[in-house]
Order: sequence, then C-alpha cells, then structure tokens
Amino acid sequence: MLMNMKDLLAVAYKNQFAVGSFNVANSEFVRVIIEAAEEKNAPAIIQIHPNEVELLGDDFITYVREACRNASVPMVIHLDHGGSVEDVMRAIRNGFTSVMIDASHASFEDNIAISKEVVKLAHSVNVSVEAELGTIGSNEGSSEGGADEILYTDADDAKTFVEETGIDTLAIAIGTSHGQYKHDRQPELKLDLLAEINSKVDIPLVLHGGSDNKDEEISQTYLNGVAKINLSTDMKNAFFKEMRRFLVENDTAYEPDVIMPSARKAAQEVVKKKMDLFNSTNQAHHYFK
Ligand SMILES: [Zn+2]
Repeated sequence: MLMNMKDLLAVAYKNQFAVGSFNVANSEFVRVIIEAAEEKNAPAIIQIHPNEVELLGDDFITYVREACRNASVPMVIHLDHGGSVEDVMRAIRNGFTSVMIDASHASFEDNIAISKEVVKLAHSVNVSVEAELGTIGSNEGSSEGGADEILYTDADDAKTFVEETGIDTLAIAIGTSHGQYKHDRQPELKLDLLAEINSKVDIPLVLHGGSDNKDEEISQTYLNGVAKINLSTDMKNAFFKEMRRFLVENDTAYEPDVIMPSARKAAQEVVKKKMDLFNSTNQAHHYFK
C-alpha cells in the first residue's frame, strides 16, 4: 500500500513508534526493504537521495511505485535531502509521495521561505513535506552531505519554523551524523533537547543518521516525538561487506542470482533488527482499520 508521509507518520506519532526510512540505490535494496517490512508486518519508507536518483534514472521510480503499491504493508516513497525546488518538482513528477527540502544551510529566514514555497507546491498535489532545522553532521565516506560541526536545533526556533512553513515533519539536529562514525567521534544524542523540542512542536520529528547510535538512546527517541528514523549506512555496509566476502571467496562468480542472495540476506537482517529497535514491528495493523 502506497501512502503519503503525513498519514503514515500520524499513526506512528500517536502510537509511539518510529518508521524506518531506508535509502535505496538499486532494485536489490527495494526488495530487501519491502520483504523485511512484510515479514515484520511493519510500515516502511523507501527514500531516495538526489545522488541516488541520478544513479538510478527517473524511470526506476515507476518500478518503486509499483512495488510499494503491491506491498501488503504501508509504504511511502520519499525524496531524501532535496536541495532545490527543481529536485522537489522532479520527485513529484516521478511519483514520490513525500519530499524533503533541505535548506538548513541557509539563513533561518531563507530556510522558512524556501520550505514554505515547497509546502505550497507539494501540498497542492497531496505530497508531504519534511524540512530541516539545525545541521546534521557528516562522517567520512557519506555522500549524503551534512556539516563538519553539528548545529543543534533550537526548540523555540523549531516552533516558529513549523508554524510559519506548514511542513508535515521536521528533521532535527540532536547529535547524529550521516555515514559511519569513527572511533574518536561516537554519537551521543541530546535527549533532553529532543524532549524540549517535542514539547513545543506538535508534528512528528525525524532523526537523520540513525546508523550506529546506542540502542537505548534510539528507543528513547520514539517516546519523544520521533516518528521517522533515517537509516542508510548500516544497511549498505552489511550488503556490500557480504558481497565483498562472497566475491573474494567465489572469484569466478558472475551470475547475479548467485552473487546477490547472501548480500541481500545480510542487509535484510539489519533492516529487520532496526524495525524491532524502532518499535515498528507488528504495527502495520493500525493502518487497516
Ligand atoms: Zn539525512
């Protein structure tokens, strides 16, 4: 079942669980996520970054839409870190049901203006909008972007931002980074800041860079307004680590149906574990009343 983000997250927000939002860059990942979601009876979000759209081409989204429509659990197709109105319009034309506009690098006033414009365009065709306030960190090797220093989201600014823009979900910076953490930079979430933001903002919150954080911290976030957690690195790592191992051990293998299954399984194990961690396992029934 394909739906938009607003409807998907309203249920998660109310029932205190978070829906995993997983990046895809080929059809293997699409199947990993949908099959894991169906097995776990969990809603899920497939998100595609503009870099990934470039890699895949627009026609690929038609396949993703069809796959999500045929899924037995609720699914959303979301544009991850749209950088411009052009990115957003391309995603809407391609059939995404949700978009992110990330103008977090701009001034507060410009971020409001750009996000507001996207809300007007996207809402006119029932597409949901996520925007970002504060900056999420960036670790080496991630192509998702982010800043060298994390600028934490201010709770009062968040309240103003949400009221002014009319967005459906807000990505906040409370200490996570994109990509893989190095040992000298372990993530630590500011859960007190999250609670403060949640007390002032009445829409679902989004956590980016959800790989590799402490499980006990992640499980506090969905009790404090986080209804969507982005995850890319942990899943991709599992996939390509297993593929590397397989190809080294089977160095003459060339058939995709021989090479792919173990990598797919490794990624799927990660996705299923995250669904348990985010408390989205067995929550699909809420959507079929
Ligand atoms: Zn992100």
